[in-house]
Amino acid sequence: MESFREYVLARCVREPSGCWRWILSIGSHGYGQASTRKQRVTTAHRVAYEAFIGPIPPGMLVQHSCDNKQCVNPEHLSLGTDATNAEDKRRKGRAAKKLSPTDRALIPLMYSTGTWTQRELAARFGVTQRAIWMVLQQQQSKPDDLGGSYENRPQHGAPTPARCRLQEVRKRSPGPGPS
Ligand SMILES: [Zn+2]
Repeated sequence: MESFREYVLARCVREPSGCWRWILSIGSHGYGQASTRKQRVTTAHRVAYEAFIGPIPPGMLVQHSCDNKQCVNPEHLSLGTDATNAEDKRRKGRAAKKLSPTDRALIPLMYSTGTWTQRELAARFGVTQRAIWMVLQQQQSKPDDLGGSYENRPQHGAPTPARCRLQEVRKRSPGPGPS
C-alpha cells in the first residue's frame, strides 16, 4: 500500500519556485483536494503536513509560508490558528506594499538574468514570494517598457546621441543621401 508520503509525492509537480503544486482536483476554496482512507476528502496540504511533519492538533490550521494554496511542500507549511493566520495575512499585505517603483522595475530585470529565483528575490526584497510573482505578472502584461534590447526600445522625444551624430555626418558629406 502506498504511504501518505508517496501519495503526496506522486500527485504534485515541483515548480522552479520551490513549491510543490498539487495536480489533482482543486476545491472552490483554492486548496488542493485529497482523499485518503483516514479522512475521505481533505485538503492536500493538510495531508502533506501529516505525512511529512506530523499530526495536526485539533483546531489548528496548516498555513503556507509561500501563500500558494495549491502548494504541498512541507517546508512551506506550518501550524497556525485563525488568529495567527489573520495576522500573517495582514503582515504579508503590508510587506507586499513595501516595494518601491524602483524595486518593481528591478525585480523583473534580476529575475530575467536567471541567477535569482523568485524565492531568493522575495528574501532579498523582504516580501513574499507571491509579491514577487505578482510583480513579474504585472511586468509581463505591460508592453515594451523595460523589455527588449536597448536598440529596440521605442524612442520617446529626443533622439538618441547616436542618431544625432548620424545626422551631422549626413549634413557634412553631400555624397549619397539616405537610401
Ligand atoms: Zn510553496
